[in-house]
Order: sequence, then C-alpha cells, then structure tokens
Amino acid sequence: MNCGICMAYLREKNKCFGCTSEDPYMRSYCRECTIRNCETIKTNTSGFCYECADFPCKRLKQLDKRYSAKYHMSMLENLEIIRSKGIKALLEREEEKWKCPECGGVISCHNGICYGCGQDILKYTKKVSRQ
Ligand SMILES: [Zn+2]
Repeated sequence: MNCGICMAYLREKNKCFGCTSEDPYMRSYCRECTIRNCETIKTNTSGFCYECADFPCKRLKQLDKRYSAKYHMSMLENLEIIRSKGIKALLEREEEKWKCPECGGVISCHNGICYGCGQDILKYTKKVSRQ
C-alpha cells in the first residue's frame, strides 16, 4: 500500500503517519491489520511481502481483491513492480497515476478526492470520458 494515496495520510486533521508507524490516529482496522502485524515481514530483508514463502497469503489476496474492486489499485501489482523494477519505479508510476489533471495535487484512491484542489477527480474522470 502506498500510504501517499491513502485518505487518512492525506487529510489535514488527525493525519495518519503511515501503516508502519505507531500512530495514535490510526484506525483500529489498520492497527489490527494482520499484514501490518505480520512477524514474517519483519524478518524479510526487503521489508516486502514478495519475499515470503507464503506469498501471496490469504490476507494479502483478500485485501488485493477489495482494493482492485473498490479503489482502483492492486497491492499484488505494486509488489510485482517493486520486485522487478524497484521501489523508485513504483513511486514514479504512482505519482503519474494519482496526479490531479486539474492542479497536479494527489488524488486519494479511497475517495477519489484531490487533496490539492478538493475536486472529486475519479467522478470527474468518469463524467469526462462519457462526453
Ligand atoms: Zn486537484
């Protein structure tokens, strides 16, 4: 998960510090996440799930399915890019993918809102492509 496109990370008030932080504002859903608390990933050299013998585990597959269906992104695809091309390549791709066409701000995958100009960009994009 790229925290940079998460609505909890992007918001001004009670801003989350990221999945791997000890954040007081982190939602319990995130705090109790089995991937976040996975013991195996802590022993990985890379810090990424693809190194695990169980990759992709049941929990990761469930999360990926939900994000692919609802939030226009895939954790498994991201991990594959990191494994084959490196983290820099993923971040460059993410920056392009989630850049607001109006102001260049960051769009959250969770709500489609640009945190630069406040527009509902994913709705906007759908509207534009229908014309
Ligand atoms: Zn914008």
